[in-house]
Amino acid sequence: MTLETSARKLIDAIAHEKGLILALTGAGVSVASGIPTFRGSDPGAIWTRDVREMATIQYFRRNPVSAWQWYRARFASTDEARPNSAHTALAALERWHIDRGGRFLLVTQNIDSLHEQAGSIHLAKVHGSANRARCSREECSRSSTRSVAIADLDLATFDGNPRLETIPRCAGCGGLMRPHVLFFDEEYIGHTDYQWPKVTAACDGMRLVVAVGTSLSVGVTDFVQMSAGRRGVPLFIVEPGSLVGATIPDAVHVRGKAEEVLPMVMTALQRV
Ligand code: NAD
Repeated sequence: MTLETSARKLIDAIAHEKGLILALTGAGVSVASGIPTFRGSDPGAIWTRDVREMATIQYFRRNPVSAWQWYRARFASTDEARPNSAHTALAALERWHIDRGGRFLLVTQNIDSLHEQAGSIHLAKVHGSANRARCSREECSRSSTRSVAIADLDLATFDGNPRLETIPRCAGCGGLMRPHVLFFDEEYIGHTDYQWPKVTAACDGMRLVVAVGTSLSVGVTDFVQMSAGRRGVPLFIVEPGSLVGATIPDAVHVRGKAEEVLPMVMTALQRV
């Protein structure tokens, strides 16, 4: 199917849907903002052994200094990133759909803050936030319900002198602070900020899924696809590569870049 044909199908599906639209985004939406993917084919993608080994809670427990160093090297630059036309179009889609009485939830795998910056309101960040940290001690009451802004911690001292003693400590129990993100060996119910119950409730009521910039390779994408498949909910995937993780045979692949396809879709919808 050509890009024009699949994009037209997507525009028609959104235009005719008055119920709950679930948008699901992955690292691909932020590529045009200068943040590389892990699995994509973009030049900065680093799907290597270090991701699977180092982005785990097991690794953090064994070597918190090295875990924080890897994490800072990988994600400190997301602070400077700004939303691109894909983020802006998704925020516009949410406003447009809600203004005509529809419901909308954006579920993102991303840990940058570009959807918030672009103005998305109904948003579940199921993999956490790169600009926040939390207590790593499971026994601490703050570890699963609270988080603090990285800007409020002294990570500059750690960056200049990375040692166990310079990792910021929890204000409640004195435990080591950790990145406020879902590691590969953790579960979505691990922190209230991930809003997993909201996502599962949305999957029970959604009428259309628009996945963007995701390879559909993680737990949340499996869950959404399984729910969509069980309930016969149409799935569109905006993504320039091949659909490695797609499990729904009649999913429509809109094979293009998010930052090009989504503004085009929004322009067409605003004319409807
Ligand atoms: P992913 O499943 O989100 O894969 C990225 C997908 O984006 C790939 O399929 C790739 O082909 C596609 N893509 C590349 N350029 C695109 C573009 N211009 N438009 C649309 N799609 C494009 O996941 P991943 O990269 O394997 O990352 C794994 C996890 O790591 C993520 O789920 C996330 O939690 C985290 N991560 C977050 C960020 C971020 O916050 N920006 C970046 C990298 C990784």
